[in-house]
Amino acid sequence: MSSVSPIQIPSRLPLLLTHEGVLLPGSTMRTSVDSARNLQLVRSRLLKGTSLQSTILGVIPNTPDPASDAQDLPPLHRIGTAALAVQVVGSNWPKPHYTLLITGLCRFQIIQVVKEKPYPVAEVEQLDRLEEFPNTCKTREELGELSEQFYKYAVQILDAVSLEERFKMTIPLLVRQIEGLKLLQKTRKHKQDDDKRVIAIRPMRRITHVSGALADEDEDEDNDDIVMLEKKIRTSSMPEQAHKVCVKEIKRLKKMPQSMPEYALTRNYLELMVELPWNKSTTDRLDIRAARVLLDNDHYAMEKLKKRVLEYLAVRQLKNNLKGPILCFVGPPGVGKTSVGRSVAKTLGREFHRIALGGVCDQSDIRGHRRTYVGSMPGRIINGLKTVGVNNPVFLLDEVDKLGKSLQGDPAAALLEVLDPEQNHNFTDHYLNVAFDLSQVLFIATANTTATIPPALLDRMEIIQVPGYTQEEKIEIAHRHLIPKQLEQHGLTPQQIQIPQVTTLDIITRYTREAGVRSLDRKLGAICRAVAVKVAEGQHREARLDRPDAAEGEGCKEHILEDGKSNPVSDTTDLALPPEMPILIDFHALKDILGPPMYEMEVSERLSQPGVAIGLAWTPLGGEIMFVEASRMDGEGQLTLTGQLGNVMKESAHLAISWLRSNAKKYHLTNASGSFDLLENTDIHLHFPAGAVTKDGPSAGVTIATCLASLFSGRLVRSDVAMTGEITLRGLVLPVGGIKDKALAAHRAGLKRVIIPQRNEKDLEEIPANVRQDLSFITASCLDEVLNAAFDGGFTVKARPGLLNSKL
Ligand code: ADP
Repeated sequence: MSSVSPIQIPSRLPLLLTHEGVLLPGSTMRTSVDSARNLQLVRSRLLKGTSLQSTILGVIPNTPDPASDAQDLPPLHRIGTAALAVQVVGSNWPKPHYTLLITGLCRFQIIQVVKEKPYPVAEVEQLDRLEEFPNTCKTREELGELSEQFYKYAVQILDAVSLEERFKMTIPLLVRQIEGLKLLQKTRKHKQDDDKRVIAIRPMRRITHVSGALADEDEDEDNDDIVMLEKKIRTSSMPEQAHKVCVKEIKRLKKMPQSMPEYALTRNYLELMVELPWNKSTTDRLDIRAARVLLDNDHYAMEKLKKRVLEYLAVRQLKNNLKGPILCFVGPPGVGKTSVGRSVAKTLGREFHRIALGGVCDQSDIRGHRRTYVGSMPGRIINGLKTVGVNNPVFLLDEVDKLGKSLQGDPAAALLEVLDPEQNHNFTDHYLNVAFDLSQVLFIATANTTATIPPALLDRMEIIQVPGYTQEEKIEIAHRHLIPKQLEQHGLTPQQIQIPQVTTLDIITRYTREAGVRSLDRKLGAICRAVAVKVAEGQHREARLDRPDAAEGEGCKEHILEDGKSNPVSDTTDLALPPEMPILIDFHALKDILGPPMYEMEVSERLSQPGVAIGLAWTPLGGEIMFVEASRMDGEGQLTLTGQLGNVMKESAHLAISWLRSNAKKYHLTNASGSFDLLENTDIHLHFPAGAVTKDGPSAGVTIATCLASLFSGRLVRSDVAMTGEITLRGLVLPVGGIKDKALAAHRAGLKRVIIPQRNEKDLEEIPANVRQDLSFITASCLDEVLNAAFDGGFTVKARPGLLNSKL
């Protein structure tokens, strides 16, 4: 016990009549204030404005008598406890009330009530003297938690002014209470949080019922809910540890006044606990043949990915469990990673849930907030389980490469725990504070790149690359999957709208520039929206194929913008069509609906001046043609490189310049002032335009060299030629990868001549015959040969008259 410093209470005390329990000196309790009398007392004695005034109150246990008029002061218990209000929390909803936190100081006896209204005030006599800051003895506090049968006893204890008498009365109770505490002790261990909270004696709400008090209807309803909740806890199949926590929490809940903020928190917690699928799972059906059919039906192309997924499933079928590395699909957006994840769930007959991790930088997003935290919530994993309602779903951890980090802890570390088969059967969300078994969950991750996946996470994953699609594949995907889906979503039938393949190709090449098919899908959606409006209006326009002479801008009543807003365009030439004619989407219709094309291939236009050459790049999008532009200006021999390019490409640029400088005389290459020292007083700027995707790799070497050769010779590169190849300092051309994709890209761009390294000749066999027919391939083993093929009439030593006169 701390040192005793006797306190003196005032001789007159305002009386707070409480019916929620008996406050004993030295203990603390919360009591709700909602009677007019007590509300008045709180307002005039405790609150000035909104701040708390420290006033000593006389707290009198009171059993409201339903028969008595609420206006009259009920007969008052003779002895009460002087108390200090430590905290007042007020609320206006559903009706005005306060919750007081009061600490008992000492007993007093009422000598005489001196005032009854608006709240009673009495002249009192102090009966015992307690230390100023009572040392809260745990056992004494627990007294307040006694059930209703002890209520009367508690009042008697209050009345027992003599210490000896008090001990006699309390010791049997304390012994009983200690027994109870022992029983609870085990579960209490898991609730360390309790210590941090204000230890308060819970007012004994249920006493009112036993003693015949009226409980209002809300309370009844609430009590019904609590009974339901209790029943659910009893019948729930949650593990023992969780069950114990629930039992303890519901006991606490029952004793709490609803006005207490903690009431709602505890109730939400319990509701989540009973809702969680502790033991509920779907039955796996793992039929590899069916899985293959399903994957093939849902996804065109992506053979590698489908094969790998099937292998993964087959191994799991043989091993009869789903443990093992986590699959991680890595590839650009819109290539079907999520969609394959969904199919895996479908093949297994499991629930599917996507957890977006992009931008998550707080570990409590994964693992939840502790319940002591204001606005605490479970993390995304537990939330996901609640949503799907089973404990063995497929969880798609989307964008693991975009996890952030912050002061709130590293979410990757939390994720590691989730994914680790050694730990995840005991995953503890901070909010739940009991373990949940995640070992049945099948995790699949997705990412755009492995570069930014935290290494520890990467270690647990098996990476499956999902490359971008070629245009040909995109057309197939559009016609087999995207268009039918869009038609269905917009309530259209193939009898109402026709999108020919050439139009799809137009959308792919002129309205989108992406590796996947997401924006293609959106554009198709925009077209369907526009057509749906037309169909709904019954205003069909004539199919363009039937009117090849139709002039641009004609025949469309409305210009429907991509966002679905319409913009009236006057037109008088519209022909009404019989309703069975489908609306044909041709390029005119495309322009009306999507606006003018965003990407046009202006190849020849761009090659109309020296210092431009076309290279072929391989990106996750497949092959791509790539312009390389160079310009020179007065300067000090600096090389500037711009565009999205990596280090290897920068090295290629330096190699190309060095080679040209050392061969300047041979080719009669000069700087602006006619010197063979190409960098003398000259800066060079190399640019790689339109680089949405970072390009890297050595294969741009020949293109950079050709582009610079054009710049320094003032000659134009042939407008129908594209090239690829790595170069050495000595001007040799080394083989590169992706020849097939690159040839397809050149073909798509309408180019005619493709220069490839000699040692790539064998790769020509892979190229589809129709493409090979349209293109002429020139193989080169050194830069001389490349330049000869890239310029009309060759490039070598054909000394031109103008150059012979230049300074040597
Ligand atoms: P990601 O997760 O890679 O960003 P999504 O799975 O969201 O891509 O795919 C975007 C859309 O494209 C989805 O509607 C998906 O069904 C469709 N899709 C992508 N690839 C294919 C494919 N190979 N076959 C059929 N549909 C595809």
